[in-house]
Amino acid sequence: MNPLLFCLLISMGWAEQTIDLPMKIRGVRYNSSISKPEDILGHKVGTRHTRTDQVVDYFEALASQSNRIILNDHAKTHEGRRLIHAIVTHPDNHKNLEAVRQGNLSLSDHPEKVKDLQLNDMPMVAYLGFSIHGDEASGTEASLLLLYHLAAGMGNEIDEILKHTVLIVDPMFNPDGRDRFVNWVNGNRGLIATSDIQDREHNQPWPRGRTNHYLFDLNRDWMPVTQPESNGRIKLFHHWRPQFLLDAHEMGSNATFFFQPGIPSRNNPNTPQGTIDLAYKLAPYHAKRLDSIQSMYYSQQSYDDFYYGKGSTFGDIHGSVGILFEQASSRSLETETNQGRLTYAFSVRNQFITTLGTLDGLVALRTDFLKYHRDFYATAPDAARKNSVKGYLISLKQNRTRAQMLIQNLQKHRIRAHGLKKSMTINQVKYQPGEAVIIPSNQPQTRFLKGVMERVTTFEDSLFYDVSAWTLPLAYGVDSHELKQVPKSYMGPALPYMELDGGHVIGGKATAAYLMTWDRYYAPKSLYSIMDAGIRPRLTTAPFSATVGEKSMQFDRGTIVIPMIQRDADATISQDEIHTMMADLAKTDHVRIKECSKNRK
Ligand SMILES: [Zn+2]
Repeated sequence: MNPLLFCLLISMGWAEQTIDLPMKIRGVRYNSSISKPEDILGHKVGTRHTRTDQVVDYFEALASQSNRIILNDHAKTHEGRRLIHAIVTHPDNHKNLEAVRQGNLSLSDHPEKVKDLQLNDMPMVAYLGFSIHGDEASGTEASLLLLYHLAAGMGNEIDEILKHTVLIVDPMFNPDGRDRFVNWVNGNRGLIATSDIQDREHNQPWPRGRTNHYLFDLNRDWMPVTQPESNGRIKLFHHWRPQFLLDAHEMGSNATFFFQPGIPSRNNPNTPQGTIDLAYKLAPYHAKRLDSIQSMYYSQQSYDDFYYGKGSTFGDIHGSVGILFEQASSRSLETETNQGRLTYAFSVRNQFITTLGTLDGLVALRTDFLKYHRDFYATAPDAARKNSVKGYLISLKQNRTRAQMLIQNLQKHRIRAHGLKKSMTINQVKYQPGEAVIIPSNQPQTRFLKGVMERVTTFEDSLFYDVSAWTLPLAYGVDSHELKQVPKSYMGPALPYMELDGGHVIGGKATAAYLMTWDRYYAPKSLYSIMDAGIRPRLTTAPFSATVGEKSMQFDRGTIVIPMIQRDADATISQDEIHTMMADLAKTDHVRIKECSKNRK
């Protein structure tokens, strides 16, 4: 393909501010009994910014009207908004949806058992996600048009899509950020919209709509999975294991439309060439649809596929193909650009039309996607064999809670962890069973595991769109070791989802004070609880020794002294309540507390 992939057609200046439905889409007629977005929203798509509750209303309405759609929730945001996704496929597939899903999982669970011929009869699974950055709002509007198109559309083209794909349509990855943005633009626009960028509508105050409630960029959280939105999304991803993942964004308003592939020298080397080849095969389908409306676009000249915590790259390390869309942003309803006035409706139309290109490509290349997905997992043992690191030992001796959180993170990504069956010595440190966890390299997620655990210090291309380093044991601050061999005799059975534990109170009921060591992740949380209860704890600023039980023990600086008798005349907490509280904190916050009956310097 021509690396520039520039469309030579001149944009004809489509600048209408409404999208009149039904749109004229080649080969598609629309069933008039299915509600158009404006019937439910109260406004035409593109004429104002649609709030998240209106998006939910429309998705619920179509799920009730169409036997092609079911609607599910997969998470709730910090502010209590619903994260929804529609499963869109042919009614015949819906009748056997669990069997269809199980068939799809067999591609990664038992790839050796799935023959090429079987792939011909299987639908592929595609995850279509929109507007993870809340103020890149056009994607979500396009998802409304997409749902209408798939629910109301009739004709051979629609039938082919419905029969041969299961689409997970996730209209808004970041509802809290979207509403923060949408309420700003809708609330600061006059009856007549202006394109003047000095206008109030065009100038969102900090923190803008990009991030979620706690200002996390959710499009960097696909790997760390720290936020409720990401937790639900990653669970949904692994529940279905799609062969394709769309991530629709917006970029600077003077640009045109970008779809991947990105800059070739900035692909993560752990991503197999087959993923990149499929992204190239899919690109002409996006180009063709944009040509059909004479919209300009480009590819390969910006953005990269390096950080596995971004949506468009996350898919690439799962036998799936992640594709990034970037539409020039109008931000508000219309905005002045160096190419003239850009409207929201124009950007919504581009997002929708290019997504139709995705569907064209998925139908045409379906067996290529399925075959690639199966082969990706079939070759996982080979990839593990070629890797000189045969596994990782994660120590639970220090920073136990953080180490357990790292293991939880890996387990969320479908990575198997094993307990130690017998003691193992590494660098003169002996680990007894219970003191470390083994993560073997040879497992279906071997490429992802390598991609998140390895320490990379040299790069083919020193320029990056964003994150270039994230080695998870370093990010969590835990001790881990790369293993050159993992004899089976050392590995216990695979662990269930790791629960945080390891808190304790040593030495029975204190008479003078309790001592809490400052070496556990949730020690600050416990300290807040202690202070909230009316206790005035003391901070030790030098190492000291104290008698615990009958033994003298050493303590580091930073240890918190929790006195049994409160000098504060207003304190009401009883000694029994303190005993109970210490036991509770050890349980809930996994902190280590020691009884002290008398102490000395
Ligand atoms: Zn973005």
